[in-house]
Amino acid sequence: MDELRDLNTMPVPSELRHNVFVTTIDRFVSYIYNWGRKRSVWPMMFGLACCAIEMICAAASRFDIARFGSELMRPSPRQADLMIVSGTVTKKMVPQIVRLYNQMPEPKYVISMGACATGGGPFKEGYNVVSGIDKFIPVDVYVPGCPPRPEALLHGLLKLYAKIERQSVREVPWYQKGESEAIPVPILGPDLIDPRRLPEIRARLAELRAQQGGSPEASAGSEKGA
Ligand code: SF4
Repeated sequence: MDELRDLNTMPVPSELRHNVFVTTIDRFVSYIYNWGRKRSVWPMMFGLACCAIEMICAAASRFDIARFGSELMRPSPRQADLMIVSGTVTKKMVPQIVRLYNQMPEPKYVISMGACATGGGPFKEGYNVVSGIDKFIPVDVYVPGCPPRPEALLHGLLKLYAKIERQSVREVPWYQKGESEAIPVPILGPDLIDPRRLPEIRARLAELRAQQGGSPEASAGSEKGA
């Protein structure tokens, strides 16, 4: 390793640059680590709607996702590092999806498969459908289509590999000190509430009450009391 560290500062004559491999320690470690990791991404076994049928086809013999090292679909989030959101995301399902995402160990990735998961698809603005799962959890790769064919999902998987290849062990959040924060689970009531937006919702509520005659302070106070 000391030799490699020396390489970082060692000047290389321009005529030799194409013949020697110069790297930094963290790039070298990242390369080895990512090379091994990208070929064993285990998806979680769950589907939401018609797109899931195409995802199942991708895992069957004709398209054979095993060629890319992802044949082990795990029924538990604790054993998976890839969530494929395949299908229509209803408001009722969002709390479960966020909870499952929080239960996956890091490093973890998300593929949004199909028009529904990415933006609501044909059901966009529907009373019970969210306009994209990326409003709640971070998405790494979007696969377009309604439904995307299995080849499209495999292409998305290759795009994910390319993203993993570019990650640096020095910069990714899961190798920093301390624990990563879980995403607050949305609250399902008459509508879906994202706890991260509560201050914004309370402010808007106070504003509306003030417009209707009450003072903003009184409205905010009664909201806190509630
Ligand atoms: S994108 Fe199309 S195929 Fe996929 S879940 Fe939505 S409606 Fe079904």
